[in-house]
Amino acid sequence: MPKSKGNPAMRTCVGCGRRRPTCELMRLTLAHGTRVAFDATGKQPGRGAHLCPRPDCLKSALQRRAFQRAFRQTLSPAATDALPASFPAARLAWITARPPRQRVARITTQLEAFFGEPRWQGPEDALDILILTVLSQSTNDRNRDIAYQRLRTAFPDWEAVAAAPAQAVADAIRPAGLANQKSLRIQEILRWVQDTYGALALDLCTQPPGRVEETFLQLKGVGIKTISVVLMVCCGADVFPVDTHVHRICQRLGFVPQGYTAEKTHAAMQPLVPAGKSYSLHMNFLRLGRSICRARSPQCPECPVSIWCPAAQNI
Ligand code: SF4
Repeated sequence: MPKSKGNPAMRTCVGCGRRRPTCELMRLTLAHGTRVAFDATGKQPGRGAHLCPRPDCLKSALQRRAFQRAFRQTLSPAATDALPASFPAARLAWITARPPRQRVARITTQLEAFFGEPRWQGPEDALDILILTVLSQSTNDRNRDIAYQRLRTAFPDWEAVAAAPAQAVADAIRPAGLANQKSLRIQEILRWVQDTYGALALDLCTQPPGRVEETFLQLKGVGIKTISVVLMVCCGADVFPVDTHVHRICQRLGFVPQGYTAEKTHAAMQPLVPAGKSYSLHMNFLRLGRSICRARSPQCPECPVSIWCPAAQNI
């Protein structure tokens, strides 16, 4: 009988003894001459055993009788000698042999199990979020929020910001950095919104996300990250914004090459994210990037997705 999607085949790791879905386990096969070899794709015929792709499980497997029983014979030490040395390469081959969509789906599930499933909080004002996201460029959340509060306190409404001298706007948003450049961009955006829609208000949620992106990407200071954040936060659209944390994690997890820009990463990742999971994965990548997979010194032994990560260290 075919397995249902919600009921994946389970196997026991010969290292730690835990039962896991087979897609999370490496397969070991008995090769010619009674030597054990890794089977990266899990498709080689013959007798096999399953193993979590962690050095600790390999170490433990090599000392366990269960490992030997899995092959129904006593393996000589020579039969497993080559395993530790070849393990890093075998682990990498195992990770890259998984289809990227499957890896993203498992990572999404594991992050939800670890951090919880973030849920969209409901509609927000699109113009407010657009300006907030422009302020967030090249700065941290704290400075962005200070600058935004100062801007809202200094001017009674967006009409007043649009009509103010650029210097006054720049002074208000200075904590966010690049104040002169951002003040000009914000005023250009506000005037464009006024001219295009006849009022300083945006109703984006009734339009297809693709059309909104096309329209707003023509504006200076609005990139794909900015408009994706607006669509995701304000409308609950199933779009996957790629900011600096998300970009770094996607590179470390091997979904995009090191040289990719954030824009190219956005285009590569969006088709891989499970339907309806953009918000959850984006928010959980932010949490992972701030707490564990930091730019410097990632804490790989603490990481809930280390088994899927080619860049994992000391796991
Ligand atoms: S294993 Fe390490 S490098 Fe990979 S995602 Fe986790 S913290 Fe980042």
